[in-house]
Amino acid sequence: MGVNSETHHWLHQLIVTLICGLLSSCEDYKSELSHESLKLAPDQVNILNLSFDPFSISSDTEEQANIFSGILLDEGNSYALPGQISHDTLVELFLAIKKGYSLQNGVVSPLIKRQYHNFQHAMDVFITTHLLLQGGGGIFLSDNEKTALLIAALGHDALHTGVFNSFLIRSSHKYAFEDGNDSIQEKRSFKFLLRTLDSLQILSSGETTIESDHKTLENCRKLIAESILWTDMARHKEQMKAVQEIAPFVLKKLQKARNNSKDAGISLGASSEDIKNNLDLSSQLPIEIRHLLAGFILHSADVSNLGKPWEISEKWAFLVCSEFFTQGDLERKLNMKVSMNCDRGNTSIPQSQLNFGKYVIEDIYSLLAKIIYDGGSEILKNFNSNQKKWAELLSMEKTKGVPYQFVESQM
Ligand SMILES: [Zn+2]
Repeated sequence: MGVNSETHHWLHQLIVTLICGLLSSCEDYKSELSHESLKLAPDQVNILNLSFDPFSISSDTEEQANIFSGILLDEGNSYALPGQISHDTLVELFLAIKKGYSLQNGVVSPLIKRQYHNFQHAMDVFITTHLLLQGGGGIFLSDNEKTALLIAALGHDALHTGVFNSFLIRSSHKYAFEDGNDSIQEKRSFKFLLRTLDSLQILSSGETTIESDHKTLENCRKLIAESILWTDMARHKEQMKAVQEIAPFVLKKLQKARNNSKDAGISLGASSEDIKNNLDLSSQLPIEIRHLLAGFILHSADVSNLGKPWEISEKWAFLVCSEFFTQGDLERKLNMKVSMNCDRGNTSIPQSQLNFGKYVIEDIYSLLAKIIYDGGSEILKNFNSNQKKWAELLSMEKTKGVPYQFVESQM
């Protein structure tokens, strides 16, 4: 994409114009058009930090597209893709990915409400991935790989049905027979994304593609597929083990690179300071390690809700539990065993957050803080404070004998 600063403002105007043109011809998005002026201009995306409110800044397509293009085109972020990609193609990519979240893809029942696995979550993960890259993670990947990871982040839950993979298997849904019964929805998401990229000739080989570009394209496509597959919670432990094993090697490389710079002696994980110093370890790390770290960054962003400021974290908890409860309603209707955390009659939201935090999240955030110090330590700090709040709410539930209730006005 490599856009120079003189043309940046003009390109922004062009993109916004194109978005408006595309939106007005696209029935699906008409209802979401806002007549208000844009709330966040592309040159303002650098004010985003991990405390950003995804429920206010990602409220309409126009603003979301603005953030997408602003982040990808901002020269300071060092994102790039091989080949000449026109800006209308970039906007088309955004709209096509968003459409992947609005389709009623094999939703098993009208009872299922996708209150969580929707485009708001996709935007949240996209922005969080960007912030983790800029918070240090970017030093491990090439500019092309970083951009591929951001595209993966936006598309990682496309075509999600709103139910667990295990539900698709237990109910003998046709998706469970498409391509093996592991990572069912993750496979559907990455295949959708690669098809979308092909249709727009982005990261897609053609007759005129030169050999070196061909390798880059293949690398980026592989990174997209692998990093989305790593978002499958069933692979969480496998990923943790793999990343824990390579962490000492990666951190040693980082210290060595810093010894050649003014930050010699700092023993913390990658930071925004390293990004500012243009530290780049991508050429020193094997492709397998780069892809593993990319997958780790995406998985961390995907489950970063518990490490966001309390008001945001609490709302995500409510939304994800609400979606789970609709699966429980369906399971009950179908005389199936109700899955864990899906029974609205006996699931305590505070308890579910405490359990998820204790058995899954604590490890991943601790490792994240070790490898990407800036983003990871902030997420870990928020998490520890949020867990205390959930413990208090659980204790109130027990004392009063009244289930916790999320109150929207708390936002
Ligand atoms: Zn997700």
